[in-house]
Amino acid sequence: MNRRKFVVATTLTAGSLTACGKPEAIGTAVAPGAKPLHWKMVTSWPANFPGLGAGAARLAEMIGRMSGGRLTVKVFGGGELVPPFEVFDAVSQGTAQMGHSGAYYWKGKAEAAQFFCAVPFGMNAQEMNGWLYHGGGMELWRELYAKFNLVPFAAGNTGVQCAGWFRKEIRSVGDLKGLKMRIPGLGGEVLQRLGGSPVNIPGAELFTALQTGAIDATEWVGPYNDLAFGLHTVAQHCYYPGWQEPGPTLECMVNKTAFDALPDDLKAIVEAAARAINDDMLADYTTQNQRALDTLEKEHGVALKPLPPDVLAALRSTSAQVVEEIANKDPFSARVYASYRTYLDGARRWHEVSEAAYYAAR
Ligand code: CA
Repeated sequence: MNRRKFVVATTLTAGSLTACGKPEAIGTAVAPGAKPLHWKMVTSWPANFPGLGAGAARLAEMIGRMSGGRLTVKVFGGGELVPPFEVFDAVSQGTAQMGHSGAYYWKGKAEAAQFFCAVPFGMNAQEMNGWLYHGGGMELWRELYAKFNLVPFAAGNTGVQCAGWFRKEIRSVGDLKGLKMRIPGLGGEVLQRLGGSPVNIPGAELFTALQTGAIDATEWVGPYNDLAFGLHTVAQHCYYPGWQEPGPTLECMVNKTAFDALPDDLKAIVEAAARAINDDMLADYTTQNQRALDTLEKEHGVALKPLPPDVLAALRSTSAQVVEEIANKDPFSARVYASYRTYLDGARRWHEVSEAAYYAAR
């Protein structure tokens, strides 16, 4: 710990030299040949869990390799160093320098955080990346997290998820009443408005919660991850589409003090590695979800069902109300939503005549 403080203090000094216009002095503590930095990454996922945990592990490995070992990152699964939902605080306070999670878990810290992960009936993965990287989204996310001494990066996406696994069939909106379902973020708020009872529990506890009847239903991710947890063995009905998470962005957060102390090349390495993982995770899910869907259907006889049109319509109209209300809760949320909404409107029009038209034509 003392050694880490020393290294951070040294790099802070080096960083301040940059501001004085002496780039040759940048990051002397972590320059090639200097003593390497060893960071910790806490995550909200089981260690090496397919897709999410594996993505966090690949991100850490990539940073180590790209930096030639000058910055190494040790990954901790949810609960190993801190509980899954304490990642934000742990990185904010510097218990760990990095975290891998989903921003919608932090609505208790800032409502606006949810817009950087998943919005019901909102943007898909392609659109989220467009908004974040080229539509002003990333700047807003950085502004929000700076208040918590954090620097955020998009670091993964699952693509469109499934609506979830249910112990009972959903035939009408009335079947959502009294439904105790694990569903985080804005999707949970929507379920609540329709009479359901949303809960948020870590992924690792989903199987037992569903098996014991502590919950009636859960959404998790999709075939790849749901099969890994064996959710099909404890709930009979799987519905689509994942209206609640149409393209959730996973996040890599870095303690701002630690990040600011890095020399420019290591900052760029962290940024580039996060961006590579953001892309790679979506490719992984696109590949593994189709394989797992095949396994669920052919080996386990699972028949995925579409949500009834009237249920989907109720979810859609309620989602619009909920998102609007959340956006009006505070001025920053309003700014984020205005940016999100403008981008989504443009993307919707463009994708009507491109992606959607092509899907229909294929
Ligand atoms: Ca989910």
